[in-house]
Amino acid sequence: MDDKCIFCAVANGESPADLVLETENVAAFYDINPKAPTHILIVPKKHIKSVNELIEEDKLIMGELILIAKKIAEDKGLVEEGYRIVINTGPHSGQVVDHIHLHLLGGKKLGPIC
Ligand code: 5GP
Ligand code: ZN
Repeated sequence: MDDKCIFCAVANGESPADLVLETENVAAFYDINPKAPTHILIVPKKHIKSVNELIEEDKLIMGELILIAKKIAEDKGLVEEGYRIVINTGPHSGQVVDHIHLHLLGGKKLGPIC
């Protein structure tokens, strides 16, 4: 846990968020500034800055993040029309929160990503 990290605070219940789902190692909550009708962030409780800092032992937690994204997509009725999972990494991607997170976006036709 990083004391100055907003997503550590949210994931550990020390900062308010609209929680969608929580497990021992993961928290999912609505993005405060949604870019789609459904915009949910999925984060590990472990503080990992970005994909660049991932190590071998993080394989399981990264798999759990994606499976949780899949479950939430099912629960929110996104499967038939489709959805997008995004991990921004570093300045050129627009990453602003330095705690690794998946964006789950859906509920409308999304524009091309590149
Ligand atoms: P990034 O650009 O780092 O991939 O995305 C960070 C996301 O976190 C943005 O979409 C932003 O709206 C969201 N965000 C930033 N601060 C907070 C917060 O305190 N609470 C919640 N729920 N979302 C946040
Ligand atoms: Zn953190």
